[in-house]
Amino acid sequence: NEYADISLKDIDQVAKSSFPLCMRHLFEKLREDHHLKHGGRMQLGLFLKGVGLKLEDALAFWRAEFTKKVGSEKFDKEYAYSIRHNYGKEGKRTDYTPYACQKIISSAPGVGDHHGCPYRHFSDDNLRAALGRMGLSSRGMEDVMDKVRNKHYQLACTMTFEAVYGTTCDAGINHPNQYFEESQKILKP
Ligand code: SF4
Repeated sequence: NEYADISLKDIDQVAKSSFPLCMRHLFEKLREDHHLKHGGRMQLGLFLKGVGLKLEDALAFWRAEFTKKVGSEKFDKEYAYSIRHNYGKEGKRTDYTPYACQKIISSAPGVGDHHGCPYRHFSDDNLRAALGRMGLSSRGMEDVMDKVRNKHYQLACTMTFEAVYGTTCDAGINHPNQYFEESQKILKP
């Protein structure tokens, strides 16, 4: 689609302006820790593929972070394969699709994992802090926390979207890539 061509030089900017919280969190953790466990690599990697990051750029992106921690030989041996795999270039050559909210919400991140849906998997304190960083007012935050308490995670995400972009989102958020595309429509009409 027309919004689907983010390039590496814009990726930090775009992550800040258009990624839903689940992907912002993974992206920031990757930049911070130079590593993500398998679940996070899958969730973020397929999302990035969905927003149009080309395979070569994806390899360069993951390599730049991971090789701050592991040698490039180890990267090529242990991680590059699965990135190529996500793009259908290895194994059964399935073209894997990015995860929808339902799948992410029902995942079960363990200790040290950063995948999952923050509305479902963060502590209240961490979620409030993250929403604050997205620019929500305390009023907006309470509305979101209210949805979270009632286990309406996608609604909580939709309300965050509406607060961040100052608009309504009648369709509701059901996919991180949909969140991204809706936000790009607003930012780059
Ligand atoms: Fe991501 Fe969906 Fe959760 Fe929003 S509701 S943070 S898009 S998984």
